[in-house]
Amino acid sequence: RQTGISSPSTALELDRAHVFHSWSAQGSLQPMTIEGGLGCEVWDDTGRRYLDFSSQLVNVNIGHQHPRVVEAIAEQAHLLTTVAPGHANLTRGRAARLITERAPDGLDKVFFTNGGADANENAMRMARLHTGRSKVLSAYRSYHGNTGSAVVATGDWRRIPNELAHGHVHFFTPYLFRSDFWASTPEEECARALEHLARVVECEGPSSIAAILLETVPGTAGVLTPPPGYLAGVREIADRHGILLILDEVMAGFGRTGHWFAFDDHAVRPDLVTFAKGVNSGYVPAGGVIIDALVAATFDDRVFPGGLTYSGHPLAMAAIVGTLEAMADEGIVENARTVGSEHIGPGLRALADAHPMIGEVRGSGVFWALELVADPATRQPVAPAVVGAVKKGCLDRGLLPFVADNRLHVVPPCVVTPAEVARALAVYDEVLTEVEAGL
Ligand code: PLP
Repeated sequence: RQTGISSPSTALELDRAHVFHSWSAQGSLQPMTIEGGLGCEVWDDTGRRYLDFSSQLVNVNIGHQHPRVVEAIAEQAHLLTTVAPGHANLTRGRAARLITERAPDGLDKVFFTNGGADANENAMRMARLHTGRSKVLSAYRSYHGNTGSAVVATGDWRRIPNELAHGHVHFFTPYLFRSDFWASTPEEECARALEHLARVVECEGPSSIAAILLETVPGTAGVLTPPPGYLAGVREIADRHGILLILDEVMAGFGRTGHWFAFDDHAVRPDLVTFAKGVNSGYVPAGGVIIDALVAATFDDRVFPGGLTYSGHPLAMAAIVGTLEAMADEGIVENARTVGSEHIGPGLRALADAHPMIGEVRGSGVFWALELVADPATRQPVAPAVVGAVKKGCLDRGLLPFVADNRLHVVPPCVVTPAEVARALAVYDEVLTEVEAGL
C-alpha cells in the first residue's frame, strides 16, 4: 500500500501518516512539531525555541514541566497507576479536598471526569435530574466541549453540525464592543442583557428550565469578562424560577483570571462548577464538577446514573495535588494577577495606542484578547488572511500565539515573568507593524 511516505520516522511524517486531527480538514495540515517544554517555553525537533503565549489550549497554567507536578505523577506511578472509580483512594480524596477548599461554602463534593466536555455533560445531567426539568440555557458566544449535550450547549459554529440533542436554548450575553443590545455603556449592556435573558426564560417556560450554563468569562469566544452585576443578575433570575446556575470554569478557572476561580471576582455563587485544564495544567487529562450540597443530596438515596472508568484516575489526581499545592506555595495565582495588571494590561493598551488594527484590549490576569479590526470606526473584523499573517509573524519571531476568529488571545502560563511579557510585547509590536504596512 502506498502511503506516499516510504518510511515515516519524524514526528511530522508519522503524524501525517497516522494521526487524525481535531476540528480540521485533514488534507493540507502541516502541524508544528513540539518536542519539549519548560516553564513558558517549548521547542521543536530542531531545537528551535518558542515563547508559549498560547499555554497550548489555554491549559498549561503552571507552565511546562513544573518539577513538583512531574514528581507527584512519578511518585504516584510507582505507588499505583490505576484504580477503579468505586474504590476510595487517598490521592483522589486529597485532590477533591484541595479543589473544594477553594470553592464557596457548601460546594464540597467533586465528581471527576476526563476533561471539560464530560464535566459539563455531567453537570447538565445533575441539573436535569435534580430539577426534573429538561432545558438548558446557554450563551451563543460560548464553547462547552465536544460531546453530546456539551457541544449542543456550545453557542459557536461547532454546535450546528452536531445539533441532534434537544432541550438546548441559546441567548445573547454581554459584549459591549459588538453589542447586541445597542448599548453604549457597560451598565446599559448589563441591564439590557439581563432583560433579554429574563424574556428568554419567560418565553421558554421557566418550569421547563433545569439550568443556565455560562462560562464565567467566555474564553474561546473572546475573553468577554461580564460587566459588574451581570452574573449576580443571572443568579437572581435563576433563583426566581428554581433554575440552577452552572458556571463553566474549564478555561477561566485555576489562576487564569488572576483568581482561583473567575467567579471570585463577581459576587456570585453557582450551584455547580465545571473545571478541567488549569486544575492540573493537563499534565494528565482531568476535569470535574464541584457540586452544591443541595444538588448532591438529590443523589443520597437515588442512584446517580453516570460514571467513567477513569473518573478520579490516580495519575490525574496526583497531578492535581502537585499542581494546586505548588500554585499555592509559590504564589502562582497572585503572579498571574500582578503580571496581568502591571505588565500585560498596560503593555497591550500601549500597543493599542500605536496600532489602529487593535480595536479593543480586554482581559485580566493571564487571560487577554486583542480584537483585530480592519477599520477602527466600523469595527469590521480583519480578514482571516490577516490573522494568518499575524500568526506566522509571531511564529517566525519565536512566539507561539493563540488566535481565534479575528482575535489574538494573549494567554501565557500563570508563571510568566515581566521579562517574558516584554519579549512577547516586542514581538506583537513588530508583527503588527509589519502586517499593517502590508495592508
Ligand atoms: N469549556 C470551556 C470553557 C472550554 O474552553 C473547553 C475547551 O476549550 C471545554 C469546556 C471543553 O474541555 P475539553 O476539551 O477538556 O473537553
